[in-house]
Amino acid sequence: MSDCLFCKIIRGEIPSNKVYEDELCYAFYDIEPQAPVHFLVVPKEHIASALEINDENSHIVGHVFKVVEKLANELGFAQDGYRIVNNCGKDGGQTVGHIHFHVLAGRNLGWPPG
Ligand code: AMP
Ligand code: ZN
Repeated sequence: MSDCLFCKIIRGEIPSNKVYEDELCYAFYDIEPQAPVHFLVVPKEHIASALEINDENSHIVGHVFKVVEKLANELGFAQDGYRIVNNCGKDGGQTVGHIHFHVLAGRNLGWPPG
């Protein structure tokens, strides 16, 4: 999508601090980190939010979780644990209209969230 911030990051039109990339997804560090480790994993396909997951694209979500497991082991936070967050819609706190999965690690994360 031409005017989508994360599509522009995926295309390299806006710089990002890349963590990982494959044919289905792109991962980059969050510009306002909320934990010692905080990156985002986004599908390369423009999916606006979790409300748009369907039978055709749901395999990408499973792939994202698999990629996070791989990165957690490679980056060394698998054993201590981590959190994957997807904010959906206004009350969910979603501010960018391209589905993304926050990966937070490196500190004890509180619960419940704010
Ligand atoms: P959300 O509030 O769940 O929609 O998350 C959007 C996230 O994108 C926030 O944590 C922002 O800090 C992050 N963000 C916004 N612009 C950029 C950018 N240019 N590079 C990296 N992260 C960004
Ligand atoms: Zn997009």
